[in-house]
Amino acid sequence: MIEMHDIWKTYSDGTHALRGVSVQIDSDEFVYLVGPSGAGKSTFMKLIYREEVPTKGQISVSGFNIGKLKSRKIPYVRRNIGVIFQDFRLLPQLSVFDNVAFAMEVIEAPRRAIRKRTLEVLELVGLHHKQASLPSQLSGGEQQRVSIARAIVNNPTVIVADEPTGNLDPDTSMGIMHLLEEINYRGATIVMATHNKEIVNNMRKRVIAIENGVIVRDEARGEYGYEI
Ligand code: ADP
Ligand code: ADP
Repeated sequence: MIEMHDIWKTYSDGTHALRGVSVQIDSDEFVYLVGPSGAGKSTFMKLIYREEVPTKGQISVSGFNIGKLKSRKIPYVRRNIGVIFQDFRLLPQLSVFDNVAFAMEVIEAPRRAIRKRTLEVLELVGLHHKQASLPSQLSGGEQQRVSIARAIVNNPTVIVADEPTGNLDPDTSMGIMHLLEEINYRGATIVMATHNKEIVNNMRKRVIAIENGVIVRDEARGEYGYEI
């Protein structure tokens, strides 16, 4: 579960990215975050994966008060959160297998568990047969699947995706969405920022709209509602 209570985020240059955001997202939810560019969507997500800390207010993720976390506890909380980016952010010199395994190596998982689990998630995203390839040898959709495998390999309770289909064509995007739905179905909370009107309108899930750092709309089976 994710809870924000009166969250304010002001960057060092004085920009107010979020202004009094309160929200509760339950553990089985799939939430779309929409709103114009600069609205505060990325900031909202960075607070969840503890890339940024709030200027004011409380935020808790899976029971951790992450605004006030001691730095030695940050890795422990981060492993509970998988992050997916628009530009994939794979390590170009590592194979598909190693890109995914790396996420388990940093938390010092046992070698055999790493191998077993990495192959298991590569199977789940349909890339078992590409495990020895380099990212540059894959299509955009395949690269995004690798980044999804990396995000889920440590069994996180929360997945945060910042425009995961932003660089993909419509068919490939739908494939990625079905994969994310499957992951949600298996128990992970998903928060996804998107500008993709078709996806939001077709999937009919909870939609939280942010504008100017404020939640302006929060609907259980919402629509996109913005012109891009
Ligand atoms: P969105 O993801 O909806 O485009 P962001 O959260 O990236 O919005 O940005 C919200 C506001 O905060 C924007 O005005 C943006 O320019 C500003 N902003 C984002 N990151 C920083 C930063 N590191 N320093 C200063 N301002 C920032
Ligand atoms: P087990 O530990 O018994 O294998 P898991 O909880 O790992 O059971 O789930 C079984 C399948 O679900 C695995 O193939 C795994 O890839 C997938 N899975 C588990 N947790 C997640 C998650 N948080 N996100 C995505 N997929 C997951």
